[in-house]
This record gives sequence, C-alpha cells and structure tokens, in this order.
Amino acid sequence: MNAAVRGKVRQKLLKCTVCNQHFLAISYYIQHIKTVHQGTTVSCCWCQKKIMKDNAASHLLTHYIGTYECLYCDYACNIKQMMQRHLGNVHASKPMFCSKRREAMVGKC
Ligand SMILES: [Zn+2]
Ligand SMILES: [Zn+2]
Ligand SMILES: [Zn+2]
Repeated sequence: MNAAVRGKVRQKLLKCTVCNQHFLAISYYIQHIKTVHQGTTVSCCWCQKKIMKDNAASHLLTHYIGTYECLYCDYACNIKQMMQRHLGNVHASKPMFCSKRREAMVGKC
C-alpha cells in the first residue's frame, strides 16, 4: 500500500443521490449531476439537504470534502496553496502529503 494512502483510511466517497453512482473526484461528481440529472438542485448524500448544483462544491466542503484533503485530519479545501499552508502550519513534522480528488489519484503535492 502506498504511503500516502495509509495516513487516511476514511476518505469519503461522493454518492449521487439520484442514481447511486460513486465518485472520488468532486469535479466528476459535479459534472455528473449537471449533465446527467435535470433540475437545479440535488440532495446532499450526507445531510440530505437540497443544495443548488452551482453551490455543490462549497456545500461539500462543510462535510470536509474538497479537491484537496488532508491525510492527517478532516481538513479539506479546493485550493492547493491553502492545503500547503495547512500542512505547513498544522502538521509541520509530517511529510507533505495530501490527497487530491482527481481521477481517483492519491499523490504527493
Ligand atoms: Zn447520478
Ligand atoms: Zn450536506
Ligand atoms: Zn490536517
């Protein structure tokens, strides 16, 4: 098992509440709900709240789901620089690993 993956075992999968498909990458999930399903809202798979598709990415951040996720805690964001700052401030002693939710890839920043 890859060292980057070992740090975080509970990375959440995004589930489409309409067709039950699973996604790791936020961008794929948003593209999916926008192109496959009609309407302007979807219900969140964690809190069941109706969310606007255009606001889905920022809503998902409230559940600690972001393009970049810290492997050591629940922190998530959509901006790489913010993740690098978080890693430097909070986990300075740890190697700079974070998970990038794109194409199901986990890699070094
Ligand atoms: Zn779907
Ligand atoms: Zn929610
Ligand atoms: Zn962290």
